[in-house]
Parts: sequence; C-alpha cells; structure tokens
Amino acid sequence: MSQTLKAVRGTRDLLPPETDLWNRIEATARQVFARYNFGEIRTPIFEDTSLFARSVGEETDIVSKEMYSWEDRARAQSEKAQSLTLRPENTAGVVRAYIEHKLGERGQLQKLYYIGPQFRRERPQKGRYRQFWQIGAEVIGPPSSGSESPLRDAEVLEMLATLLDELGITGWTLELNSIGSAADRAHYNETLRAALAPLAPKMCTDCQRRAVTNPLRVLDCKVPEDQPVIATLPVIADSLSEDAKAHFAAVLAALDAAQVPYKLNHRLVRGLDYYTRTTFEFTHGGLGAQNALLGGGRYDGLSEALGGPKAPGIGFAMGLDRLVLTLQAAAQSSPLEKADAYIAPLGENLNAAALTLARELRRAGLRVELGDGSFRLKKSFEFAERAARRIVILGDDELESGNLTVKDFASGVQTKVPRKELVARLRS
Ligand code: ATP
Ligand code: MG
Repeated sequence: MSQTLKAVRGTRDLLPPETDLWNRIEATARQVFARYNFGEIRTPIFEDTSLFARSVGEETDIVSKEMYSWEDRARAQSEKAQSLTLRPENTAGVVRAYIEHKLGERGQLQKLYYIGPQFRRERPQKGRYRQFWQIGAEVIGPPSSGSESPLRDAEVLEMLATLLDELGITGWTLELNSIGSAADRAHYNETLRAALAPLAPKMCTDCQRRAVTNPLRVLDCKVPEDQPVIATLPVIADSLSEDAKAHFAAVLAALDAAQVPYKLNHRLVRGLDYYTRTTFEFTHGGLGAQNALLGGGRYDGLSEALGGPKAPGIGFAMGLDRLVLTLQAAAQSSPLEKADAYIAPLGENLNAAALTLARELRRAGLRVELGDGSFRLKKSFEFAERAARRIVILGDDELESGNLTVKDFASGVQTKVPRKELVARLRS
C-alpha cells in the first residue's frame, strides 16, 4: 500500500470557513492602509540568498539556521549556479525593489504594504509555522522626503493601533525601545561584550556564542535561567547619542498627543540586524509563548548596506497566523455562511435548466448552490437545509408554468414564486 501524502511539517492547509476570517483580516488591512495612502507591493517569493545575508544579518537566527536555501543549477555551462532562498521576511525584498526601480527618484515618500507567505525552518508549535503569512508595510525615501522624521515612526505606530482596533483585537500592548544609530549600537555592543565576558560562561550555549559574535542578541534570549543575569546588564538607553535620544523623545511625544498607549522595554532589540533607533512589538497575552503579534522598527542604513542610495525607513511585519489565532480565541467559531438558495432539479433532464436558472441568479449577485437531478427530493432537502437558507424546486411543472416552488427553512413556509420575482424574493 502506498503511503498517504500529508502537508509538510510546519505547513498547513487553510480551509473554509476559517479562510473567511483570513480574508476579512486582509480586507480590513487593505482598507486601513489605503486610508493612510499606502500602495501594495508584491515581490518574488524567492530571492538571491545574499540579499538576506546582507540585510537580516549573517549572525541572526533567521540567516544562520532558519532559511530554505538551494543551489539553482546552472542551465548552460557559461552560467554559474546561484544560491536562492525562500524569503524568510519581506523587508529585504521591498528595499531591493526600491533600489532596483529607483523609487527614491520619484521624489515623495514611498509607502508600500505587502501580504504574503514567508518561510523559516523553525520548530513548529502553536503560532509558529514553517510557512506563515505576514502583513507588513514600509515607509521609505530619501532624507529630503521626510523619511527620517519621528513623525513617520509615530504615524506608523498610530496606524497599527488603529488597525488592531478595527480588527477587533483588544488587550494588545505596544512595547517600544530605541536602539540608537548604527554607531550607538556598535558602542553598546562593546559595552555589553565587556559586561558579558565574566558572565557568559554561566549562560546557555547560544548566549556564550552571542556574547562573542553579537552581544546584543543576548537580550533576546528566552532561557529562564539566563533572565536574572540579563537583568543586570547595562541598558541601551545609556548608550544613545543626543540625536537618537531627541528622535525617540519626539516619537513618544507624538504618541502621547495621539493617545496611543505604549510601554517602554529596554530589552527589546528585535531579531534582525538592520534595525536602528525606534524598535517595537505589539504583543497579546492570549497567544501564550508566541506572544508577538507584530514587530518592526527603523532601518536607516539598510538601503546603503544593499548598495542603494541613502533611504531611511521604518516598517513592520505582523503575523497573520497569530492575528487569526487571537480572533478565533475571542469569537466562537462562526458556522459556514449559508447560501441564498439551493436549486433542486427534479430529474436529470432538468439539470441543464437548473444550471441556466443558477446562472441567472448568480449573475444577479445571489449566492447559489446547485443540486443534481439524480437526487431524491428527500436528499435534496437534506443537502439544501445544510447549505442554504432556501430551496428552489425545479420540476417539469415549474418549468412550464414559470412558477417555482420556494421553501424558506427559517419560517418553514413554502410558496410558489413567479420566475421574474425570484431574485427579489431570494434577496429578502
Ligand atoms: P518571534 O519572536 O515570535 O520569533 P520574530 O522576532 O522572529 O518573532 P519577526 O521576524 O519580527 O518575528 O516577524 C514579525 C511577526 O511575524 C512576528 O511578530 C510574528 O507575529 C510573525 N512570525 C514570525 N515568525 C513566525 C512563524 N514561524 N510562524 C508564525 N508567525 C511568525
Ligand atoms: Mg523568530
């Protein structure tokens, strides 16, 4: 016997009615983005591996162990094989596209959003998958477009608060930090390296490595035993330049004015190397261990690191899978939405006429389920009651007289309806 095939570990099928919720979330996000004057960008699902190595960073978990990469074999002898990677995140692709299409030369700020799957080889668990979906946005442009203004940071955060509110997600927390300029971060990394030297041997093996290669990452450690040590480490706020401090203060002042609540978190450094200055996460208690709904921050040097022009920017990515989990926990699972009508042809000779009727009704905008003339009337009624609010019976009599038999399941009332009144009746 052949083995049955299943979806690959860490991937899953999304089925109705759950996909209704996914579509609703995506539609709300698109509406909110439009109000803030964002446009959609769609970048390829795979990119050259070096794009992620140079943006996300070699030392990050994502690049060092979570990427799906492969050598794309050369087709001609003259061609070299190319290392390709399924995108683990979308900011790198957007910034690559920004550079490639010289979007900076368009003068205004580029405000771009995306919705799509991302891929990371992580240990699958609740809220953590190997193919997952992100909704994200980027605000990026040359400094002359105002892309560096703290108002941009505040506007993005205010938009996120609005989006979560409109999705009906209550009880979120915005956690906020500044990790300063690239120079501030380098300085802080050295401070941390020195502080960690005597402490690291007592920490987890990941931290022992990070203490040397990328000390900032130690702050991300989730191992409970390491937390008391981490609590004693110097905080980044003390390493910030005057510029970075002023920028952060202006972001906070704008959030206060707009009444967007937030919590400062000195430990929030985020998992990607390209962040500078403002970094943030929105968390939700209902998610358990995987409590981050979304994360983001500023990436003022990213474009240059990828060989592009100076183009400061700020963006975020939210986990669509986690938004769905949060909303499912809040609401009772909604039953499948019922169709407006189920058409039951009484005999296979009436199938063609039933299709014609269904076509008419569907073109009028009704949601219609089409039965089959081989079904007994009892079976048609059973199927219809599960799928639709009403059954429309189409027999030879009905076809001849032009009066259709319609039964409404909620009221139990059965009536004859002239064909030209049918659309109006089924809409009511
Ligand atoms: P986490 O700390 O949960 O691993 P992260 O810092 O790796 O998150 P980002 O790279 O900032 O996450 O991605 C932004 C958002 O994407 C996260 O806040 C989360 O909601 C979602 N996300 C990240 N990885 C996964 C995954 N493997 N499965 C489902 N959602 C994910
Ligand atoms: Mg992660």
